[in-house]
Amino acid sequence: MPVRDLDQLLHDVFGFSSFRGVQREVIDRVMAGQNALAVMPTGAGKSLCYQLPALALEGTAIVISPLIALMQDQVRSATANGIKAASLTSLSEDWRQVQDDLVRGDLDILYVAPERATTDGFGRLLEQARISLFAIDEAHCVSEWGHDFRPDYRLLRPLLDHFDRPRLALTATADRRTREDILQQLGISEDGLIVAGFDRPNIRYHVVPRQGLPSQLKRLAEAHPGPGIVYCPSRAQTERVAESLRDTGRPSAAYHAGLDKPVREGNQQAFVASEDMVVAATIAFGMGIDKPDVRFIAHAGVPKSIEAYYQETGRAGRDGDPAEAWLFWGAEDFARARRRIETEVEPDRRQQERERLNVLAAFVEAATCRRAILLRHFGEDPPETCGNCDNCLNPPATIDVTVVAQKILSAAFRTEMRFGVAYLAQVLGGDDNEKVRMNGHHTLSVFGIMDGEELKLVRPVARSLMARDALRTDDYGGLSFGPGAKPILQGKEQVVIAVPPPPARGSKRRAREDYPPDPLFDALREWRRAQAVEQGVPPYVIFHDSTLRAVAAMKPSSLSALSTIDGIGEKKLERYGESLLTAVETADDRQDA
Ligand code: ADP
Ligand code: ZN
Repeated sequence: MPVRDLDQLLHDVFGFSSFRGVQREVIDRVMAGQNALAVMPTGAGKSLCYQLPALALEGTAIVISPLIALMQDQVRSATANGIKAASLTSLSEDWRQVQDDLVRGDLDILYVAPERATTDGFGRLLEQARISLFAIDEAHCVSEWGHDFRPDYRLLRPLLDHFDRPRLALTATADRRTREDILQQLGISEDGLIVAGFDRPNIRYHVVPRQGLPSQLKRLAEAHPGPGIVYCPSRAQTERVAESLRDTGRPSAAYHAGLDKPVREGNQQAFVASEDMVVAATIAFGMGIDKPDVRFIAHAGVPKSIEAYYQETGRAGRDGDPAEAWLFWGAEDFARARRRIETEVEPDRRQQERERLNVLAAFVEAATCRRAILLRHFGEDPPETCGNCDNCLNPPATIDVTVVAQKILSAAFRTEMRFGVAYLAQVLGGDDNEKVRMNGHHTLSVFGIMDGEELKLVRPVARSLMARDALRTDDYGGLSFGPGAKPILQGKEQVVIAVPPPPARGSKRRAREDYPPDPLFDALREWRRAQAVEQGVPPYVIFHDSTLRAVAAMKPSSLSALSTIDGIGEKKLERYGESLLTAVETADDRQDA
């Protein structure tokens, strides 16, 4: 049986003109009958790496996947491209049918959870089938080092060894220890490790101090009409944010573990199907959702770590279209995290946690390329500038504020470390008010030692001092010294801050630049919406925005022209081609009229 040409399959089935990144390398290995571990960032196109060999090779590819929601999503997308895919899960109603299809060789891909894959019954079922390959998705679940260890992944090995077909493990996890563990646990040799770069070039990073968060979020939502997620540090805040966004007329909902299951699941489903919804969520949200058209991710507070930040922001722009990540931070975030470390974390893990937090502090305070900092953190060697983050696009001025910092620290010290920033500013500015007088602070040497220009810097500098653990807040808001204070007071360490640029300027303009108003594109989305409703699937399963935008730009008048557009394979051409051409024609006529 001749193997169908891979490029041809890529074009005919998926409608893509070329492979991306390491896809070809991974696929070639599988086609050669070898094992591989592909480490590819979110959105790099992992599923294609097993879907294409599944089509090219004889038999059925068995895909191990950890979540039912993920399997359903994958089956839906694969089916939309004309791939014969099915899953065996507790929710499947067609068990008999799927088993028959498998045994008859009538399935390209079968998705199963590890718990099922490792049962004797499943092993016996596979004995009757012809297997083309095993794909182990989210393979970091096999490792205790990974962030979601799933013991059943460890039991897969006998199954893999027994059938001896090429095994392809896939994950987006970066960590070296986890990778080694996956190779060992799944019996894949070192030379099978294929690592793609971690950059997500279509995501634009912005990090700004929190200043009136509700209006900052409203502006963000206004500038980005597509789907978005706002990660909030508390359940209560998810509710508040969702409500304040709803006030602007934007569909939005909260998502957190405290909501009743039906409500929570309803909100998630609505989000997956929506083209403009914003979900305010605690971090649990987004795991196991493969929504490709999320246009922005916002963090209402500092995330847990750089790793968590990268994973969470990585949920934006999987479709490769421009997307944004916004981090709104405040000094309190660091103060709270530091207090938590000192009180709740076990003593022998504290130092490690402090360092994690310092890395985050350096990231939010940086005046240099954000992407470069992130990628260096993951062991890459990126260029100094990326041209697609806040600091590259709008390089902030930096100023040496060591003297201001020293004055603030002295004021905190002289007032016995019992007061907050506002009060320290009053003392430093020589504000002769009643409270200052009552405390006798008008007689201190630090009273009135700052001029107006310096006073303007007190807040940003204090924020910076808290982020770098030179100042700590107590439960009553009083500022006291942390370990970072002394070197600054002694003049051994400089304090340099980036002057925050005026808030959120340009964001709206960007949305207009990236997506200039296009009535034809809007009409095609309208058309897609109708199709989606009719079939009960999310719009992105029909076509991605980028595909519709390409159609709008080309205004094709024939099926063959349509078939050259990325994202339109044979199956979709057959199914939607005529209807799409009519939609283009009608909308165009309407515009001319
Ligand atoms: P991952 O699982 O790695 O996050 P997916 O498999 O969901 O990524 O793919 C991400 C997106 O990239 C999907 O929308 C997919 O259609 C698209 N894609 C994958 N491969 C290609 C390619 N070679 N050319 C264009 N788009 C691609
Ligand atoms: Zn940059």
